[in-house]
Amino acid sequence: MSKQTPMMEQYLKIKANHQDAFLFYRLGDFYEMFYDDAVHAARELEITLTKRNNGKSEGIPMCGVPYHSADNYIRLLIDKGYKVAICEQVEDPKTAKGVVKREVIQVITPGTVMESNMLKDGENNYIASLSHFSDGSNVIVYNDLSTGENRLVLINQGWDAVIHELFNQPIKEVVISSELPEDLQRELRDRLQVTLSYQDEVTFNAEYRNLSENINNDTRLMEAFSRLLNYIQHTQKRSLDHLQKAEVIELNEYLSLDMYSKRNLELTETIIKKGKHGSLLWVLDQTVTAMGSRMLKKWIERPLLDRTRIENRHDIVEGFYQGFMERDSIRETLKSVYDLERLAGRIAFGNVNARDLIQLKQSLEKIPELKTVLNQFNHKQIKHLANELNYPEHLLELLQSSIVEDPPISIKEGSIIKDGYNEQLDTYRDASRNGKQWIAALEKQEKQDTNIKSLKIGFNRVFGYYIEVTKANLHLLPEGRYERKQTLTNAERFITPELKEKEQLILEAEDKSIELEYQLFVYIRDQIKEYIPDLQHLADVVSNIDVLQAFAHVSESNNYKRPRFVKNKLHIKNGRHPVVEKVMKDGSFVPNDVELDQEKNILLITGPNMSGKSTYMRQLALTVIMGQVGCFVPCDEADLIIFDQIFTRIGAADDLVSGQSTFMVEMLEANHAITNATDRSLILLDEIGRGTSTYDGMALAQAIVEYIHNNIHAKTLFSTHYHELTSLEKTLAHLKNIHVRAEEYEGNVVFLHQMKEGAADKSYGIQVAKLASLPEALIDRASTILTELESGNKKEQMTKDQTVGKIDAGQLSFFVEEQAQIVNTKASRNEKESGAHEMVAQELSDLDLFDMTPMDAMNALYKLQKKL
Ligand code: ADP
Repeated sequence: MSKQTPMMEQYLKIKANHQDAFLFYRLGDFYEMFYDDAVHAARELEITLTKRNNGKSEGIPMCGVPYHSADNYIRLLIDKGYKVAICEQVEDPKTAKGVVKREVIQVITPGTVMESNMLKDGENNYIASLSHFSDGSNVIVYNDLSTGENRLVLINQGWDAVIHELFNQPIKEVVISSELPEDLQRELRDRLQVTLSYQDEVTFNAEYRNLSENINNDTRLMEAFSRLLNYIQHTQKRSLDHLQKAEVIELNEYLSLDMYSKRNLELTETIIKKGKHGSLLWVLDQTVTAMGSRMLKKWIERPLLDRTRIENRHDIVEGFYQGFMERDSIRETLKSVYDLERLAGRIAFGNVNARDLIQLKQSLEKIPELKTVLNQFNHKQIKHLANELNYPEHLLELLQSSIVEDPPISIKEGSIIKDGYNEQLDTYRDASRNGKQWIAALEKQEKQDTNIKSLKIGFNRVFGYYIEVTKANLHLLPEGRYERKQTLTNAERFITPELKEKEQLILEAEDKSIELEYQLFVYIRDQIKEYIPDLQHLADVVSNIDVLQAFAHVSESNNYKRPRFVKNKLHIKNGRHPVVEKVMKDGSFVPNDVELDQEKNILLITGPNMSGKSTYMRQLALTVIMGQVGCFVPCDEADLIIFDQIFTRIGAADDLVSGQSTFMVEMLEANHAITNATDRSLILLDEIGRGTSTYDGMALAQAIVEYIHNNIHAKTLFSTHYHELTSLEKTLAHLKNIHVRAEEYEGNVVFLHQMKEGAADKSYGIQVAKLASLPEALIDRASTILTELESGNKKEQMTKDQTVGKIDAGQLSFFVEEQAQIVNTKASRNEKESGAHEMVAQELSDLDLFDMTPMDAMNALYKLQKKL
């Protein structure tokens, strides 16, 4: 390497330890970047790339951002998934010998953001660590640095379960060992699209012993937790007093939702826009505080399984529901409670200002009020919540006695601490105030003595206090007493020895008081650190109250009903889709019943496209989830089953990221359901098989229904446009046909969105096309073709019945395409092909579908197709 200046040598040395981050190197009022960092940052931040002259011809690429606005640039980089290492001067440049000593004081990463302007109020900002063990088990640790939460999940079910678990959480960054196999790393990167960070060295830090109380008898959990803590220490470089005890999440205590279901059901964000609007969370989020909103999201992501816990939530919601006047007061009071959880985090982190402390004070002052309202409910569990609402009185006293009501943002410019809090500070303030009074008196005196009415005494940072006289009045000033200091266009400024003497006293007192105020602030902040666990507990109780009152609030305004839980029989009267009904005109949503029990545990739904089949399926899943989360449900009456898992294949949400086809995604999702579901699960399969040609699709659909019916016994809703499948009702004892009613009126189809027993009679495809305003001539032509095909179909039917064997023929759509194929086939090829057709048909009829997985079936069909 060519010879560098000492400063660049220092830069390169520091940069060598932070290869994966942009190094923000502090130079005066700027953070500078050099070399590749500079080129890259200039492009990402759209700032000017310059060169630093290093004595050689080409110079070093360089760009910089001002210290004061650095936050915005850092945020841009973090949002894009990058890391930023902040390198500060750590000694006073005035006293430094040679190059000023610099150190990286913090590495900001997507998962460790603490700055409030980079965090979203209602969302957690998780960093996770993943540790993979030789026995195949994996441990995931979640941490939200802004709230201090630490949660661990042990997964024994293999890698797929890890991906499903991670995918279901809003994670920004995953910390792993560089020894994790490369293909697994790639999958994390591609499917989760998170920043991957490495922490290979794992040592347990005794400082955090109390955090690991719950897990210290399990070496895997300890290793995983330490990996995360080591990474946080390594990047944040400070002790973090707000980290909470590691808490183990037992996955078998929660309703399991695979990543497909969470996405398909749009629980917390919509598929297309990726926003909260239009999701279940959007409807239910009537929380008042940001802490409550975050907790609600967590609850929706992990609905409960334990009936007692669920019913405890319902009991409280019922209490809040009935006491609507008191509920209004709760909501009103909660409006003045700030984000205690994140305030606690910032106090520990040391980046809290006096305004934050005032927010903390105001929040604590509201707690007794909240407690009083809760006690007004004559309700055991609500009273219990009230008893949990405690805060340390000393903390409130400290805040009330020390911080002024309206402090500035800066903690280094004084005006923070109240008079009377500290004697020394009061003395300095008196000196400065007296001095100012003395100056006011002096101004008055000077006016009198000189007879200049416009004479005034002012202050600026360069000259300090001065006496200002306009040019027109200069002649009135006596000689000798005044020393000229500054000339303006219209006036002259003077000083006198006595003015300067007083000035020194005032400024000294002010300097000292500002310095002392800062010290006092830091002292107060450190004292508050001791109360962090109390604040976290308080935050937790307040969040619970907030979510449960929100449930009562939405349940009342949307007319939801408290569900009962029964074994094996599900009955919903006049159920509604909570989101669709919200976006539709009032009262236009058509409610529907759902009945499922041990006798009939599969509903096969037929009906035209756009008639409401998938809405019906989603509505059931959302109702189940709402019930298990503790909320009331959208219907007139509900007996629900507590499901252990929900599996869905709904809609055309292709896995675009991993580049898989619709059909492949369909099969993956179906396979996931079939291999994991139990008789306590809910499976929703919408139009399975439509991603491939008619034959394969229908065969697969039928095989899947049969497999679930015979082997899994899960409660299942299965919608299909293969009318042929409705005849399964005859052979599968627990399957029942239902359909969506549609009526034809003057050649147009009218959807009634009403579920009825039995199978649909026709598909109304052409009528739907008409609704989509296709040209009239085209619609007419389609009707003609359909009539032709329908009459041709009758003739074909006999032969098909013989050849297709097991698949029950006689329905409409299956042969429509088959017939179309025949019409289009050239006569000369007919003979040769009919031989092949017969052979294929024979092989097809020989397949034992019950003994095949969907993938086997898929492969067999593929081979058969090749033979044609
Ligand atoms: P399908 O799955 O049968 O193609 P969807 O469930 O996607 O149909 O429903 C199509 C549209 O019909 C929905 O976007 C919704 O606007 C409307 N819809 C569905 N169910 C209802 C209902 N119960 N009441 C009123 N409108 C409904």
